[in-house]
Amino acid sequence: MTSPGVVIVGAGQSAAVAAHSLREHGYRGRITMLGRERHKPYERPPLSKAVLVATEEPRLEVLTEESWTRSDIVLLSGSDAVALDLAQQHVRLADGQVLEYEMCLIATGGEANTLASAPPANPRVHYLRTLDDARRLRAALQVKPQVAILGGGFLGLEIANSALSAGAAVTVLERAATLLDRFLPPEASAWLESGLRDAGAQILLGVSLSDVHSLPSGRMRLITDVGDLEVDEVIVAIGLLPNDALARDAGLEIAAGGGILVDATCRTSNEHVFACGDCTSQQRPGQIAPTRLESWQNANEQARTAAAAMLGAPLPGPAVPWFWTDQGKHNIQVLGLPAPDLEYVRRGDPAEDKVLWIGHRGSVPLHGVAINAGSDLRAIRPLFNRRQPVQLEDFQLDTINLRAWAKQMQADADATV
Ligand SMILES: Cc1cc2nc3c(=O)[nH]c(=O)nc-3n(C[C@H](O)[C@H](O)[C@H](O)COP(=O)(O)OP(=O)(O)OC[C@H]3O[C@@H](n4cnc5c(N)ncnc54)[C@H](O)[C@@H]3O)c2cc1C
Repeated sequence: MTSPGVVIVGAGQSAAVAAHSLREHGYRGRITMLGRERHKPYERPPLSKAVLVATEEPRLEVLTEESWTRSDIVLLSGSDAVALDLAQQHVRLADGQVLEYEMCLIATGGEANTLASAPPANPRVHYLRTLDDARRLRAALQVKPQVAILGGGFLGLEIANSALSAGAAVTVLERAATLLDRFLPPEASAWLESGLRDAGAQILLGVSLSDVHSLPSGRMRLITDVGDLEVDEVIVAIGLLPNDALARDAGLEIAAGGGILVDATCRTSNEHVFACGDCTSQQRPGQIAPTRLESWQNANEQARTAAAAMLGAPLPGPAVPWFWTDQGKHNIQVLGLPAPDLEYVRRGDPAEDKVLWIGHRGSVPLHGVAINAGSDLRAIRPLFNRRQPVQLEDFQLDTINLRAWAKQMQADADATV
């Protein structure tokens, strides 16, 4: 009897990388991938960037045509997995089909968090998670509308920059008093805010939205505690909800803050079921509780880890979380995770649009933030892997070569071991 092989639920970034990785490890069994969307796995990061503004839609496939063919994946697109039976080891689809598995990988990502007063079905309301969402928003931006963006997080601000480039009039409404204050040092947050204002956006901070109405004219009225605002389109970017319902209903362990709980090998609480990407929550070094990471790197790293663990192959080493965002013409890269008690030291000047911050606890680098300084961040990356104190005074001096400094810091740490 042929083995039922691996069933991957979800057909996004993580799913595609995991399938490819299984083949790279020599797995010869059947790989069946179930995808709710009617697209082959595609990259989401360009959806809020090039897809909204480029004259031609960029190529988005996660795997090249050649890798896809070589990976020999049976893709059932437009297929929604509705139940997972852990005892019988099968997945049931919405159309009633039942697929058995030897190993199951859940890579279901997440859904945009919605606002009851701005439902996705309203033609003037936009959420941005899928390629279809991006194409709809791109079409709406072509008439240079007035838009309100609800949410001043990384995604909301990327959309704001893209909408400005497309010629729209942009107002960003954010509940917090500063932009991204939980994720960036205060100086970086202030730099982002002033850059966006200079580019023409209106930014309303500390605003509370109480309702959104569709007007007979077709426009939208937003009711806030600082007054009403009328716009043509409303774009909601208020975070992500992990798609963990399938796992939850099957009885798999779910983390307190949501997300399928996985161990360091991406195994769930059932030995035949793994999970990777935005749908997971994982305990990470230095964190007091399991955390969810919604990033391209995490989706890829966890996919490779899950594939290796499924086959009993050596696991890739744990990676320090890394994230990038493009804000208009600026590139921001973030290494490690923020924490409220970190102190920041800076190299470079925000006024010159090129800065690198190190957030540290007791001189141990834990959070690196680079504005247009990705190569500098790469140079000091090894220091984040080691979690050892470093001499931070020299880091701040422009006269010091950063790569040499990072090497010296590693040598010093080696000498003290
Ligand atoms: C607009 C946008 C911009 C981004 N920009 C950046 C960036 O600049 N930098 C960065 O690091 N990260 C960025 N990200 C995040 C990054 O793209 C995600 O972290 C990554 O796509 C997660 O991959 P995933 O495979 O976990 O989930 P997804 O890529 O979301 O794939 C999950 C798939 O599973 C399908 N699915 C869900 N439930 C079921 C089911 N029951 N049955 C069948 N199929 C199902 C979904 O429809 C979806 O197609 C961005 C994301 C978005 C949306």
